[in-house]
Amino acid sequence: MNFIDNIKNKYDLPVLVSLIFLPIASLICIPIYIVNYGIVWQEIAMLFIGWFFAGTGITIGYHRLFAHRTFKTYSIVEWFYMLTGSMALQNSILHWCSDHRRHHKKLDTKDDPYSIKEGFFHAHIGWIIKKGNNNYAHVSDLERKSAVKFQKKYYWTIALFLSFVLPVIIGFTYGRPFGGLLWGGVLRTTLVHHFTFFINSLCHYLGNREYDSSTSARDSWIMAFLTFGEGYHNYHHKFQWDYRNGIRWYNFDPSKWIIEFLSLFNITYGLRKVPDYLILQAKIDTVIKKIKYFSGNQSLYLDKINKITRNVRINLDLLKKLEKKYKLVRNNKNISLQLNRYNKQKNIYKLELQNAISSLLIILINIKNLG
Ligand SMILES: [Zn+2]
Ligand SMILES: [Zn+2]
Repeated sequence: MNFIDNIKNKYDLPVLVSLIFLPIASLICIPIYIVNYGIVWQEIAMLFIGWFFAGTGITIGYHRLFAHRTFKTYSIVEWFYMLTGSMALQNSILHWCSDHRRHHKKLDTKDDPYSIKEGFFHAHIGWIIKKGNNNYAHVSDLERKSAVKFQKKYYWTIALFLSFVLPVIIGFTYGRPFGGLLWGGVLRTTLVHHFTFFINSLCHYLGNREYDSSTSARDSWIMAFLTFGEGYHNYHHKFQWDYRNGIRWYNFDPSKWIIEFLSLFNITYGLRKVPDYLILQAKIDTVIKKIKYFSGNQSLYLDKINKITRNVRINLDLLKKLEKKYKLVRNNKNISLQLNRYNKQKNIYKLELQNAISSLLIILINIKNLG
């Protein structure tokens, strides 16, 4: 009796049961269903289309649009992302964003709701099944939005309808309602759940820390591949207001590409982007911090490092002034005349700074090898 009471007090039972039930149902029911009734293309399509909508509903909608406000859009688009985000069954926008903003603000402390310091299981799923996560704060800016207000009232109806009833209805249209439920509902929800939970667990566990070595957040292209681009998590924690997570054009970040594509038609606008000088400064600060950490009291490369940092300071300052000037020019809508000159000059400063980073990295490798 004591054990059951303990479980009841500690865990949110409906959440616990559904999070255990969904993966088990996927693992057992789907193979049995395939053996008896085979696979049809409609169910594979429903799985991947549902995964895409629910996944990007979280990454573009809940995360980059609502939680961080990295770009602006129209109310109808907010409604769209409210609906697709609800399909992920990860609670309401208000709840999700409140937890997420706290995660950024209190990262790696005991007030971080999904702190990796409390272990991989806690960061992945443990924090969701525990009781005591039902109050939200720091989301008053979102409470005024019509989509958010509507979702707050009808969250469970919307979420359960889109996640389970709709796949059954679609299944009826080709004569396999149970197949629709299994592929488009149960399996799809399980996959979206765990691949987004990976952002809180594996993205604080696997990868590099190029922009800030003092936090647990890490950059990993493998994780980006599995999470619609959210795997560049070290960069994201350093610059949470950037609509991009993978900043290089080749970084796998479909959420960024979709936001950019929609901006071509003005569906999204006011995309917020960190200036290059701040990004390069963060990278340089991080390498220097690592060098200091590994060199201890040694001063073997001190003269060289001082020389590089002097040069870095000059180039960062020039790049900062140039980017600010460009912003003014852009605001004056007189851009085409000066854009070429601006880009050329910017590339010169950036090249100098990249060279400085390479030199610092060589020093870091040497120091590590000496150690
Ligand atoms: Zn994080
Ligand atoms: Zn975030």
